[in-house]
Amino acid sequence: MPSNANRPNPAAQHHAPAIPVLDLAPEIDSLWDELNAALQRVLKSGQFILGPEVKAFEEEVATYLGVRHAIGVNSGTDALIIGLRALDIGPGDEVITTPFSFFATAESISNVGAKPVFVDVEEGSFNLDPGLIEEKIAPRTKAIMPVHLFGRPCEMDAVMAIAERHRLRVIEDCAQSFGARYRGRQTGTLGDVGAFSFFPSKNLGTYGDGGLITTNDDRLAELARMLRAHGSKKKYHHELLGYNSRLDSLQAAILRVKLPHIDSWNEQRREVVGRYNELLADVSGVITPEITDGHVFHQYTIRLSANRDSANRDEVQAGLERQGVNTMVYYPIPQDRLPVYNGQYPANPVSDRLARQVLSLPIWPSLSAECQERVTAALQAALRRRP
Ligand SMILES: *Cc1c(COP(=O)(O)O)cnc(C)c1O
Repeated sequence: MPSNANRPNPAAQHHAPAIPVLDLAPEIDSLWDELNAALQRVLKSGQFILGPEVKAFEEEVATYLGVRHAIGVNSGTDALIIGLRALDIGPGDEVITTPFSFFATAESISNVGAKPVFVDVEEGSFNLDPGLIEEKIAPRTKAIMPVHLFGRPCEMDAVMAIAERHRLRVIEDCAQSFGARYRGRQTGTLGDVGAFSFFPSKNLGTYGDGGLITTNDDRLAELARMLRAHGSKKKYHHELLGYNSRLDSLQAAILRVKLPHIDSWNEQRREVVGRYNELLADVSGVITPEITDGHVFHQYTIRLSANRDSANRDEVQAGLERQGVNTMVYYPIPQDRLPVYNGQYPANPVSDRLARQVLSLPIWPSLSAECQERVTAALQAALRRRP
């Protein structure tokens, strides 16, 4: 042992381990034995694609969500694409959606050959502003794709009323909203089709890729089941051009272990958010998110307010990182501004402003109060240091 082993090191307190944006280790540790048992069950079964494990998961998740059909697929992106295809949306059609989302939202619309039409968002909720939808409806408009961003349900009553009035279909992007409820009903059960992602970082994530399509419509469910398996109902009898997009059995087994915990994890997220909001209540220049009914806080996203440009926000983020606090910017470039769309879209001022202001702080269900205090103290220091 070196002789100075017990001497206090004044520098050590500045080198506490960095706080990641997401830590999955506590969850994996807490479920270790159950996960191992589930994985061994699949390995011994010899069934790795679809099969009884996927069927059991589909039944359990349909019951949890309160929906007639749940169809396991390869990813959230595929759930959106297959959902659009089942709704017969393709070349020549337009789909109204939000500019402020992950690119998979608009990409799925473009990839089926349709055109995304962007409607600006509400500043407080980050979600599609229903009041702006009708002015964008045109003869080729076929559907609306709302996104329940960061786990906050969209104003679905207003969206559904517009859809009904104009005979449009509704496909909900629920990638970030597993377990979220709108007026007591699960997201993904309100429109014609719901699309969920089980990417590892999502509220209900697996340890690989996975996704889910939900619908109460028997015909849409049948089409989705065919599309995920090369367009066939019966092996080698292909009726449609489909995809290879099946949920695999190992992922389904993992999801079956995790599903019973989702409500308590989402409740823990809301408690984490309550603590953050208290810690940041009097910090000037920071706008904290509203804790609304049914919101499951996939992200805790603050806004750095007042005429700041993205360089200021990026400086605050760098200041946090220097203090060992990792954060993310969801999303630095709205979908309509991405290079892939070559500047073809008119401005959406709210979405453009949010992209300059937002900062997502670390969040996971078991994030400790102590870590949260470190995060908020570091944020205040980073804000003070800014010119
Ligand atoms: C994650 C995500 C997707 C895509 O899900 P994958 O499973 O990664 O394909 C789609 N939309 C939104 C809003 C997402 O956050």
